Amino acid sequence: MIETAAPARTLSELPVAPGLSKLGERFVEFRDPTPLPEPQLVVFNADVAALLELDPAVAADPDFVKLAAGNARFSGVQSYAAIYAGHQFGTFVAQLGDGRAITLGEVVTSSGARYEWQVKGAGTTAFSRFGDGRAVLRSTIREYLASEALHHLGIPTTRALAIARSDEAVFRERPETAAVLTRIAPSHLRFGSFELFHYRGEADAVAKLADYAIGRFFPELLALEAPARYAAFLREVVERTARLIAQWQSVGFSHGVLNTDNMSILGLTLDYGPYGFLDAYEPGFICNHTDETGRYAFDRQPGIGLWNCKALAVALSTLVSKDDADAALAAYEPAYRERAVALLRAKLGLREAREGDVTLAVDFLDLLAAARADHTNTFRALSTDLASARALLEAAPGADAWFERYRTRLAAEGSDDPARYAAMQCVNPKYILRNYLAQQAIAAAEGGDFAEIARLHAVLRAPFDEQPENESYAAAPPEWAAEISVSCSS
Ligand code: AMP
Ligand code: MG
Repeated sequence: MIETAAPARTLSELPVAPGLSKLGERFVEFRDPTPLPEPQLVVFNADVAALLELDPAVAADPDFVKLAAGNARFSGVQSYAAIYAGHQFGTFVAQLGDGRAITLGEVVTSSGARYEWQVKGAGTTAFSRFGDGRAVLRSTIREYLASEALHHLGIPTTRALAIARSDEAVFRERPETAAVLTRIAPSHLRFGSFELFHYRGEADAVAKLADYAIGRFFPELLALEAPARYAAFLREVVERTARLIAQWQSVGFSHGVLNTDNMSILGLTLDYGPYGFLDAYEPGFICNHTDETGRYAFDRQPGIGLWNCKALAVALSTLVSKDDADAALAAYEPAYRERAVALLRAKLGLREAREGDVTLAVDFLDLLAAARADHTNTFRALSTDLASARALLEAAPGADAWFERYRTRLAAEGSDDPARYAAMQCVNPKYILRNYLAQQAIAAAEGGDFAEIARLHAVLRAPFDEQPENESYAAAPPEWAAEISVSCSS
């Protein structure tokens, strides 16, 4: 393949467009970020800089630190906060909006790709309600690392370009350090963006927003006439959501707050708060300690994804008829199942599709649950040598019988061990962002040492590689990790 070098632009060479704000003040509040005193760059992501065709040398440019801290904006483009509503824990909240995230504009690349450049924690907006508009260093590190971890696991997500901090204190359960995360995505539009206008009875604004989203992100749908175009748009979002959640389930990712205002219209993982990766496989795992009913428990994510798509269908009901919406929503289950089954088959190293594969996979997960075995490490062991996987499932009754069935199933397709292991190691990660690893990076950073963030990020950039020198990052959590509690406060 011939690769032409992408341009590496300085900040002043970066073309920045208004993005969503060109729709006008019904959709955004024009607002400058609030400066953060004496900001310091905590971490900079050269991968995302490359995506933006930004010269990584800008990390040393004082103007970049100003942007990253919300102490400057791009000249000639007004920054803004977007308005949205949402169903929070099942209850409709008529007005939310970017209460602490300000979009500085939309960077345009040489190939015409567009990325919103958003500073999260950059001060209050018209939508802050009782919030202080700030983010804490802890939560920005969590979002930075998790979004990059998911990206390198092949899961659609917003990205993180940088974190800036300041000595300014922010009060949560305790005084913490103020920080700003620079977040990058083609769009941060949410299901809730559509809900806001629908429930206000402003059907023309719902249509405007849908036209914007389709024109920008689903241009292939422009070939269809309305209303078929809007029905196809809904269906596409439904299918993306289903596939996204199937991918989360396959790596044991639990989002924690699947409110409709945290659901991306592009099918990206959006708004990292009290998320958690599974350590021991526990299907009913609740990562968010404030989620008392377990509405967003790990094994409820696929169902909640559909619930949220139904909420989106309601929000689009002035554009999409009931029958068309039902047809679009009916695509959720098969899209989920197809992706989930393909992933499970791949995780077990099964090349061919045969009857009984799903039962075999589900029975394996039951063994993991019974043994409280580590989700990631057991699948990885199964991808390395069967005896070590069997040993991890020591405590599970029926494990011997399962391994017998598995061997028979492998033999039925003439599975070759080395080839299977190699393929399985490309889908069963060795490294995930375990909560205790994030916590170690956070504790070091709160003490002024940012090196662990970069080290951990480097490990997570190659989650499927063996990385023998980083073996310790693959370890299941130590005992002290049981003390870590994650809540919505961020
Ligand atoms: P989240 O739970 O982070 O998705 O946030 C839910 C809503 O609360 C969104 O509208 C956020 O913008 C808003 N929000 C969260 N934290 C703050 C804060 N510190 N200041 C202002 N608004 C906030
Ligand atoms: Mg949110």
